Amino acid sequence: MRKAAKHSAGEAARRRAIVRREEAAAIELDGRPVAYLLKRSSARHTLALRVQDNGRFWVNAPLATPRQQIELFILRHAQWLRGRLAVQSAPFQWRDGMVLPYLGSLVHLCLMPMAKTAPQMELFAVPEDPPEPEVVFAGDVLLCNVAEGELARAVGDWYRREAARVLDEHLRAMCRHLAIPVPELHLSDARSRWGSLSPKGAVSLNWRLVKASSEEIDYVICHELAHFRRRDHSPAFWREVGRLYPGYDAPRARLRQQGRHYFEF
Ligand SMILES: [Zn+2]
Repeated sequence: MRKAAKHSAGEAARRRAIVRREEAAAIELDGRPVAYLLKRSSARHTLALRVQDNGRFWVNAPLATPRQQIELFILRHAQWLRGRLAVQSAPFQWRDGMVLPYLGSLVHLCLMPMAKTAPQMELFAVPEDPPEPEVVFAGDVLLCNVAEGELARAVGDWYRREAARVLDEHLRAMCRHLAIPVPELHLSDARSRWGSLSPKGAVSLNWRLVKASSEEIDYVICHELAHFRRRDHSPAFWREVGRLYPGYDAPRARLRQQGRHYFEF
């Protein structure tokens, strides 16, 4: 009797010590914001998604998990969530504050058009300042110095420039690692495929791959490199992919899951 009372007092103290915090939050799903409740607790060590019958959802999270990690977790379960929430897929729309995928993570788009200074009559010629960059990547924010109507072009240009740099780096690093010559690289804008190998041995990679994680990028690169030996998709081809990139299964599966999302723009 006494022992039980003591136990429940300890239990009550433990419960009092748990810190809980609730925040209203929103995430962009198929181009439109979906509200959710973020329930943080010091007693939690993992993330969990719960959907209520009324079509709303909440996320249970540890106290200190960064918001970006939580959003990434939600997006990984977007397919599942869509079914539960019956979210109508709205057309993709460019707007200030939206989140975009980049290198397997998320960046927040921040619109801040700077006033362009009017050219002034100068008595003496002054060296012209270089034009302000239109898009600057700062941490997890993409600062866009353009009008909203120019977002699609400016951000698209930035992604393609990043893709040229990142995909070239990945291809070179992989070829160095495999001790093979670096093939010619072309960026592609294909609407449904990630890469291809031309009969002349040039590798084409979709610029949208820059939205995916390093592992997904390396999988696609090794997939195309494996085509040097096998042009088909036979079991022998997949053995070759496995030889070039052991453990390719997980990034391949992730790309299949997330891929549709990367093709939104
Ligand atoms: Zn293939």
